[in-house]
Amino acid sequence: MSKQKIKQLLIGTNNKGKLREIRSLLPNYIKIYSTSNFKLKSPAENGKTFEENSLIKSKHFSKKTGLICLADDSGLEVDHLDKRPGIYSARWGGKSGDFNKAIKKVFRELDKKDKNWKNKKIKARFVCALSISHLNKKITCVVGKVEGRISNEPKGKNGFGYDPIFIPLKKSKTFGEMKPSQKYKMDHRYQAFKKLKRFL
Ligand code: IMP
Repeated sequence: MSKQKIKQLLIGTNNKGKLREIRSLLPNYIKIYSTSNFKLKSPAENGKTFEENSLIKSKHFSKKTGLICLADDSGLEVDHLDKRPGIYSARWGGKSGDFNKAIKKVFRELDKKDKNWKNKKIKARFVCALSISHLNKKITCVVGKVEGRISNEPKGKNGFGYDPIFIPLKKSKTFGEMKPSQKYKMDHRYQAFKKLKRFL
């Protein structure tokens, strides 16, 4: 498997934002399937790290379809909040996955911790673990990160999740204000993807 390039691949996510981004990063010669082609439900993510949760997903979706599966587990770490929401990033949006709710919770937690946080630089990073599995076997698992800070207010309508409150290092715009093509070339998923080159 290690020397052979993958020709068809299931993208193991039910998150439309991630699916769009992962599709745009994959080479054209790969035939791509998504979980909606098979009406697959996501598994319970009961791992303790991004890597563990990513592997839970890639193995689960691969076993359900027999296809090689690429899955992502990702999230936002805020240093002022002891790296929360971290692996709970999706869960901060509640059952309906409401990103406005998740963003409000970040601001609420920062207020609780430090009333003066808006006058400080609140360091944060997006982390992404990408794994490829075939049935129950891990082919690879890599991690990518993008460092940055939390904006004082949500800005921009592009992207998904926490994009409107994340300003990457050396930039003044949030991911939510950037064009998707600009974000995709610098974010955590892209950093992880670069480490998958020998497979894709
Ligand atoms: P999970 O990997 O499906 O558990 O979900 C990760 C969650 O982290 C997403 O639902 C988003 O809330 C957040 N997240 C991950 N990647 C990004 C990103 O690129 N932009 C904004 N939010 C993200």
